[in-house]
Amino acid sequence: EKEELKKLKDLPAITKDNHLVHVMGNIGKPEDVDAVLEAGGEGIGLYRTEFLFMDSDHMPTEEEQYRAYRVVAEKMHGKPVTIRTMDIGGDKELPYLDLPKEMNPFLGFRAIRISLTHKDMFKTQLRAILRASAYGQIKIMYPMVSSINEIRKSNQILEECKKELDAIGKLYDRNIKVGIMVETPSTAIVAYKFAKEVDFFSIGTNDLTQYFLAVDRGNEKVSALYNSYNPAVLEAIQLVIDAAHDRGISVSMCGEFAGDKHATEILLGMGLDTYSMSASSILGIKKNIINSNYEEAKKYRDLILSKDTPEEVLEALK
Ligand code: PEP
Ligand code: MG
Repeated sequence: EKEELKKLKDLPAITKDNHLVHVMGNIGKPEDVDAVLEAGGEGIGLYRTEFLFMDSDHMPTEEEQYRAYRVVAEKMHGKPVTIRTMDIGGDKELPYLDLPKEMNPFLGFRAIRISLTHKDMFKTQLRAILRASAYGQIKIMYPMVSSINEIRKSNQILEECKKELDAIGKLYDRNIKVGIMVETPSTAIVAYKFAKEVDFFSIGTNDLTQYFLAVDRGNEKVSALYNSYNPAVLEAIQLVIDAAHDRGISVSMCGEFAGDKHATEILLGMGLDTYSMSASSILGIKKNIINSNYEEAKKYRDLILSKDTPEEVLEALK
């Protein structure tokens, strides 16, 4: 079985009727790149940079961050590397950043909200990412975006960083692409507006499910309600993909749902362009894609979206 899967490593993720998609890896550390490459990952769809911050006893310097990001870019040899700016807060703490205890941490001071408040910290990270972009195909991704203003403010800060690097003669990719995680209802529901502001979307189903269903992703008491096969979540995903394609931008998915083998075909039918997941799932998902037929998946998508409960959806999927 494992040996069979390995044979798919260097094949494109293309359906029987020649519809091409991409399968990439999620990483938390530069070392994780090796497993992604070994599984034939076509890029890094999500680099969760917060681990660099969490594993350090001090705020990582620009130099430290630059080195980590550059290693990833170089190891990927020109394949895309989507670096997500740090997503601290929620359940992730930093010992050296005094974050207040909150009643609702997942609705509170988290991710891009922290970055936009701690501008120096944000600029340090953006400069490090920009400098690393001279060594590969790096893209920047903002996490937990819930308003257009957050994108505009972040991009303004990014432009400041570019000017600062220009002033000291540091190189970076002048065409660096900038995208967002789509993981809040306020972004998903008017995705067509957000699509005008960015180069790409990546759907974070872990948070999208939590926020759409109002179900804490880490609370066992309500874990039975936490289900990405819920028709509300599926409709949201379809909406986001259609909005992106109407504007001519591509859509990736980097939440756990992308690596769920029962979801491959419905996501294909919905038009997802890129699946990004932990290295261990890459070959299995690629196999599912290769064994699928895109035209059939689209018809099948209509059937699945007509279901009323997560149970009915899963039943139909199996
Ligand atoms: C997500 O929310 O789906 C996601 C990929 O981000 P994280 O799991 O890091 O919150
Ligand atoms: Mg998330």
